[in-house]
Amino acid sequence: MIDLRSDTLTKPSPEMLAAMVAAEIGDEQYLEDPTVNELQRRMAELLGHDAALFFPTATMANQAALRAQTKPGSMLLAEERTHVLVYEWGGPAIHSGLVMKGVKAEAGRVTPDHIAAEDRLELGPGGIVVLENTHRSSGGRIWPLNEFQATVDAAHERGVAVHLDGARLFNAAVGAGILPAEWARHADSVTICFSKGLGCPLGAVLAGSAAFIERAWESKYLFGGAMRQAGVIAAAALYALDHNVERLADDHARARRLADGLGLDISVVDTNFVAIDDPGGDGEARLAARGVLVSDLRPGVLRAITHLDVTDDDVDQAIEIISDALTATRTAAPRAR
Ligand SMILES: *Cc1c(COP(=O)(O)O)cnc(C)c1O
Repeated sequence: MIDLRSDTLTKPSPEMLAAMVAAEIGDEQYLEDPTVNELQRRMAELLGHDAALFFPTATMANQAALRAQTKPGSMLLAEERTHVLVYEWGGPAIHSGLVMKGVKAEAGRVTPDHIAAEDRLELGPGGIVVLENTHRSSGGRIWPLNEFQATVDAAHERGVAVHLDGARLFNAAVGAGILPAEWARHADSVTICFSKGLGCPLGAVLAGSAAFIERAWESKYLFGGAMRQAGVIAAAALYALDHNVERLADDHARARRLADGLGLDISVVDTNFVAIDDPGGDGEARLAARGVLVSDLRPGVLRAITHLDVTDDDVDQAIEIISDALTATRTAAPRAR
């Protein structure tokens, strides 16, 4: 089986596990876990913020950020297939009392015009705009820095906070050849996920101002995310920062090669996602039967994701198998109607 479903599927390498075993640990809630403290210090610096806080998941980090920056009854504005809107089980409404509004946006990029189109009473102080980079549902697209900054400025101009869901911000940084802080420092808060392309078993970090992180602690406790000897996990994240960031370029090159081999437009393959149209809706099962696992990007579109455990050979084989299955899908589609 060639497993291209998700970059979350990687298991920690022997070297990462060794780093976890060797970690110096303490009680995180007493602020006595030196490995967690070191990760938080490094991440604050890397993201261009005062402080950072370790979380078990990026979902929890996003939800803590929303709760710390908003007032119940306010609006959360985001592109309509943003992770916080569609994959976090209504969390913004449940945990923070937010009214969620999704807008259609090219490549997942909310623009200043989207913000201008909202009523100032509905989207105003107490509300939040959530931006995702890379943007998952558009196929791991990178947000050009100038466009990102213009959207952040438009939100700030009307007193609205901005949260950056940067679960895959390191993919964006490596793909664009700029530092993660270039985007992150403009946002009021930023989430990073370690269990995607960085190859950790779990873990996420939230960064922002010192006052914001102080408030985010409260949500971390409330959600049951205040941990104890969490340094065993933070050690994996530190290992990933040292060993698994630059190599994301390999995943990106393999994704482009896969797309090229399938005759797809590689100009939209910014990072490790390949979007494959599946008009018949049965592509996932067809490919699985031939030994290639993929998953859904959005309705009618499959995704093939490259990651630490996908080799050049896997890509070559996947090109043959997927081409074959796609051709079969196309000829079968008219008959199926
Ligand atoms: C995966 C993902 C998350 C959630 O990460 P978990 O650590 O699995 O909770 C949040 N946002 C985006 C954009 C993601 O891709």
